[in-house]
Amino acid sequence: MSIKDRLLEVNRRIEAACQRAGRRPEEVNLVAVTKYVEIGTAREAFDSGLRHLGENRWQDAKLKWETIGDAVWHFIGHLQTNKVKDVIGKFPYIHSLDRDSLADEMNRKAVALGICVNAFVQVNVSGEESKYGLPPDELFRFAERLADKPGIRVVGLMTMAPHEAQAEATRPVFRELRRLRDELNARNILPYIASELSMGMSNDFEVAVEEGATWIRLGSVLVGHQ
Ligand SMILES: *Cc1c(COP(=O)(O)O)cnc(C)c1O
Repeated sequence: MSIKDRLLEVNRRIEAACQRAGRRPEEVNLVAVTKYVEIGTAREAFDSGLRHLGENRWQDAKLKWETIGDAVWHFIGHLQTNKVKDVIGKFPYIHSLDRDSLADEMNRKAVALGICVNAFVQVNVSGEESKYGLPPDELFRFAERLADKPGIRVVGLMTMAPHEAQAEATRPVFRELRRLRDELNARNILPYIASELSMGMSNDFEVAVEEGATWIRLGSVLVGHQ
């Protein structure tokens, strides 16, 4: 199956989920996660109209980033502080901002380059030990420290749900992330609204869309899994 055909099918499923939730499909943005596939497949994704591409390791992303220069790149994986210099300036979106030391380093690098990075604060809503992300009860204190960093714009929150055999079981995680976003904005901690929710993967994106996802990150279902 070509990526174009997969994209048609994914869009059909997004539209159906939006219909169930009373949302407009234009509110849902797609990041094609190319971490599993080679350059040729990543290129096919881009040529199929997928402008936003996601990777989780700079070493693996490098060649694709250099080759597919017109894509909008999203860094979706855990980011080590000593790797910040590699990705800031190349990936306009970082989905994994989850600690003070990383925020300081990202801000330092962005300011040095004269840019502002779009960041999602990653929250470990499920509390799984294997997952990165900030504990939910640290979110507001963390956001206070981000509020005055000129190199970082918090566009919203990101989470990963546990892998469930039944996607429906992920719903409370996505619902809680939405609630945290709403409370963050209601408290006026940031001097702007952080409206985005990066949540939903191949296994659970329809539930995430029903719960308000504005960015879904799709690998296997969209570009395949080599
Ligand atoms: C790999 C990955 C994805 C995509 O995973 P699929 O299940 O293949 O859609 C999404 N988000 C993050 C953070 C990932 O690491």
